[in-house]
Amino acid sequence: MHTYRGNIHIHSCYSDGTGSIKEIAEAAASAGLDYIIITDHETVTGIKDEAVYNGVVVLVGSEINRKHSHYLAFNIDQTIGSNEDNPQEVIDQVSKAGGFGAIAHPFEKGSAYIEKGKAYPWIKWPVFRFQGLEIWNYTSHWRGRFPSSLKTLYCFFLNRSAAMDGPSSDCLKLWDCYNRSGHRIFGIGGSDAHASLYRLGPLKVTIFTYNYIFRTINTYIYMEEELSSDFPRAKAQIYKALQEGHSFLSYDILHPAAGFLFYGLSNDRIILPGSELDYEENIELRVKSPYRRSLIRVILDGKLFLEAKTDDISFKPAVPGVYRVEVYYRPLMGHPRPWIYANPIYVKTYFPR
Ligand SMILES: [Zn+2]
Ligand SMILES: [Zn+2]
Repeated sequence: MHTYRGNIHIHSCYSDGTGSIKEIAEAAASAGLDYIIITDHETVTGIKDEAVYNGVVVLVGSEINRKHSHYLAFNIDQTIGSNEDNPQEVIDQVSKAGGFGAIAHPFEKGSAYIEKGKAYPWIKWPVFRFQGLEIWNYTSHWRGRFPSSLKTLYCFFLNRSAAMDGPSSDCLKLWDCYNRSGHRIFGIGGSDAHASLYRLGPLKVTIFTYNYIFRTINTYIYMEEELSSDFPRAKAQIYKALQEGHSFLSYDILHPAAGFLFYGLSNDRIILPGSELDYEENIELRVKSPYRRSLIRVILDGKLFLEAKTDDISFKPAVPGVYRVEVYYRPLMGHPRPWIYANPIYVKTYFPR
C-alpha cells in the first residue's frame, strides 16, 4: 500500500491568493508534498496550468459561493456559478458536471480581531448528495478563536500551535451523523492558503506563506498502486482515492503523519478507510501511529468506543457500525494535542447466502 501527502483548498492569484500556480507548486515541492488542489473562488481558470511540477501533481478545482455556504468542487472542467440561496443546487450542479465536492469550513466563526469578524459558515441544513466535508481548515480555524488582539498576536508570532485545538466538535458530530445514517461522507483537511499580505503599522506581513501552510493540515491518501508519472492517470488516481475516502488528515506541525495506518483485515484481505467490511468472525481493525507517545481513540457511530495510550492497537469490532479513528500527540509536558483524523471503515451486517 502507498501513502501520498497533499494539501487541499488553496487560493492562487486567479482569485484572492497572492501566488501564481507555479510559485505555489514550488512551495509544495519544498514542503515535500505529492499533490495539491487549488480551489480559487468561482473560477477554474487555473486548469490550463494543471501538470506535474517537480514531482508535485497540481490539480485545480474551485470554491463556489461567496457570502456563505462555501463548497469545494473537484474534478470539474467548467466554472459553476454560485447560488447561496440554494446551495443544494450548487452541490447538484457539481455532480451533474461529473465532479464531486466537499462542504468547506461549515461552522466557521468570526473574531472582532480578524477581518472585523467576517465568517463564512454553511447556512442551510440539511443538504444531501454532497460527497465530502472539510473537517479541519487551518486558516478558518484561526478565525473566531481569539478573545483579544493581544492573544491573536501572541499566538501568531510566538505559539501558533496554541490556536490549534482540533476540529470543531459540531463538525465532527455532523460528520458522524451523516455517516451513521448511511450517507458516507469523506473527511478532508484544508489549508485555505492565501498567503495574504497585511499591514501591521509600518510592517507588511504575509499571513501564513504557502511554504509554511503546506506543513500544517495535510490530507494523506492511500493507494494500492503507485502514483503514476502520467498526469491524467495521476489525476484520476488522486480524485478516486479522495472520493472513496481512502484518506486521513493530519496537523503535520506536531509530527508528520507518514506511516500512520488504519485498516481492516478480513481473511488476510486489507480494507482501507472509506470501505466496507462484512461483520464476520475473523475480522480485525488495526491502528498504527508513527509516533510512540500517541493516544488513540476509536469512535463508533459517533461515540467513544475505545481509548488507549499506545502507538499500535488491533481489536475486533464489537458490533457492526461506523468506526473512525482520532490520534492525539502526547507531548512530554502538557495535554494531548489533536493530530490525526482518519476516514471511517463501515462494518456491515453480513448475511450469508
Ligand atoms: Zn471558504
Ligand atoms: Zn477558501
